[in-house]
Amino acid sequence: MSTTPKDKPESPAQPVNWADFRDHIATADQEGRRQWIYPRKVSGRFYRWRTWFSWLLLLIMFAGPFITINGNPLLLMNIVERKFVVLGQVFWPQDMIIFALATLVFVIGIVIFTAAFGRVWCGWACPQTVMMEMVFRKIEYLIEGDADRQKALNRAPWTAGKIAKKLLKHGVFFGLSFVVGNVLLSCIIGWRPLYQIILDPPGQHLTGLMFMIAFSLLFYGIFARFREQACTFICPYGRFQSVLLDENSIVVAYDHKRGEKRGPRQRGQNYGDRRDAGFGDCVACNQCVSVCPTGIDIRNGTQMECVHCTACMDACDTVMTKVGNERGLIRYASLNGIERGERLKMTPRLLGYLVVLAALAVVLAFMLFTRADVEATVLRAPGSLFQKMDDGRFSNLYTIRVVNKTSRELPVELRLENVSGSLRVMGGALVVPAQKLLENSVLVELDPASLKSGTTPIVMGVYSHDQKLQTVKTAFIGPRN
Ligand code: SF4
Ligand code: SF4
Repeated sequence: MSTTPKDKPESPAQPVNWADFRDHIATADQEGRRQWIYPRKVSGRFYRWRTWFSWLLLLIMFAGPFITINGNPLLLMNIVERKFVVLGQVFWPQDMIIFALATLVFVIGIVIFTAAFGRVWCGWACPQTVMMEMVFRKIEYLIEGDADRQKALNRAPWTAGKIAKKLLKHGVFFGLSFVVGNVLLSCIIGWRPLYQIILDPPGQHLTGLMFMIAFSLLFYGIFARFREQACTFICPYGRFQSVLLDENSIVVAYDHKRGEKRGPRQRGQNYGDRRDAGFGDCVACNQCVSVCPTGIDIRNGTQMECVHCTACMDACDTVMTKVGNERGLIRYASLNGIERGERLKMTPRLLGYLVVLAALAVVLAFMLFTRADVEATVLRAPGSLFQKMDDGRFSNLYTIRVVNKTSRELPVELRLENVSGSLRVMGGALVVPAQKLLENSVLVELDPASLKSGTTPIVMGVYSHDQKLQTVKTAFIGPRN
């Protein structure tokens, strides 16, 4: 990796000083100015495995919005309609407790995973890393070449060739960002409404169009300019890792016991000669630094900026193979693994996390399996008062909301259960379409004999095909005696 401030040719007066890594992050100089990272191309077994895995993830990401289960998408976060779909299961605001619990299980799962295996998620599955390193970076290499050629191109005057390359790169970047932005939008509103926005005249969907452009610009900004700073400045997960990791966590680590004292390998020097001269296996080639997309030197130890992308592992393995040493000078290992040769072990902290996770998962599973098919809420119509009818009875107006979580249309009937009176649904029968929310008004008329002074609690049964689905409680406002 090499750096230049603000993507401009580096100034020889401001060389990068790797020894001061504790004072400032690698992507900023002492004055806080951006140091542009030029990671070299990497090759090796981990990069190959990550490439295959990223193809799978990209396939899921781009095909996901079009895959349906029971007519529902894999993932939909429709904040506008307050409808959320995860793996084809629809969740409504009424399922907020389940949703909150599922989020808690997910977060604790990540905590456990991080405590045990470090930031494996960041390196292998985070959409930011996958898109940046496996898509945008590869396109950049394809158009502008490896790190040295990119630096040379940025230093070169603005010739027709340079302008053409930059236009091509940023054109492709923006086109891809547009696609990624639309994928995100389809996860919010669904692909059909998105398709409609694309097909209809622009004037019909100004808000949708605005979001389309905003998301495209956002992703273009992230992948073309902001890059690794999204991981170091924005993502809270990187910050959390410092409190989640301990000496037993498996992380991308440099084996300092094996590597130190580092020093260049002299021509003809064999392994024994090096050991006799007090040197370890690290030949100080800096290949691990040159491939790092966040610009750090892993030999300084675990750092917040490390996204566990494994590039340094591959680079060092290549060097070790070349000099005839065993691979794995930089490898997945814990501090205790390096210091004492210990393998991953179950610590009391990890056990505690696992117990909490298992308990929450059981509660979540119970709530999911016992989730009602229909969820009804009845609330008095805002601002309405009671009315006295010609026959002497009193009436209250209510708003009923019924969520049908099943995949079939559901006729719904309401019955008064604790008082005598009548109940009328305005606008005819209540028939709730599958996976939809229906809102309607209900007029309840009660005999004066059934009323208490002021407020009378009433209970309504929600029925479908004569089967009781739910009981709803509300209040009836009447005159005070
Ligand atoms: S790539 Fe390996 S040998 Fe080269 S500097 Fe890094 S740790 Fe040392
Ligand atoms: S230190 Fe290694 S694993 Fe961490 S970000 Fe840099 S290259 Fe990737």
